[in-house]
Formats: sequence, C-alpha cells, structure tokens
Amino acid sequence: MAEKKTCSVEGCGREAVREISYLDAKILEERAGLKLKVYHAHPPRRPGIVYLCEEHYKLWKKLSREDRKIKELSMKG
Ligand SMILES: [Zn+2]
Repeated sequence: MAEKKTCSVEGCGREAVREISYLDAKILEERAGLKLKVYHAHPPRRPGIVYLCEEHYKLWKKLSREDRKIKELSMKG
C-alpha cells in the first residue's frame, strides 16, 4: 500500500520523505525543541519510528552531523 505519510513533527503536516528510528530522531526534541509523534513504539525493545518531511530531515541531518562530531571529539579526548 502506497499510503502517504505526513511529517511526525507536531504542527508540521508536510508530506514525509524519510522514515527514521526514534532513537536517532530524538535529537530533534533534545536540540531543536520539537515535539515528535512516534509510531510503532513498544518500549523498551522497540523505540519506534518517526516520519520526516524534507525540511525536518535536513534539520535532522545537520543536528546528527554535529552530534557525531562532538562524540568523535570526546572519544579522541
Ligand atoms: Zn516536517
């Protein structure tokens, strides 16, 4: 079924282009202060997934890139 998904960011409502794990998407809540609707979550084993529109996916990529950089730096530390 090719059902159209909408972005999981509260108040967004644009068409989703990506689906990512909530574990990864969490930084949008932690860093950008966004609220996410999480699908298929069955804690603690399944964190669930969120859908992101192009805009929010770009934002997420940016945040996760920064996050990785910080982690790498602290590992070399
Ligand atoms: Zn969005």
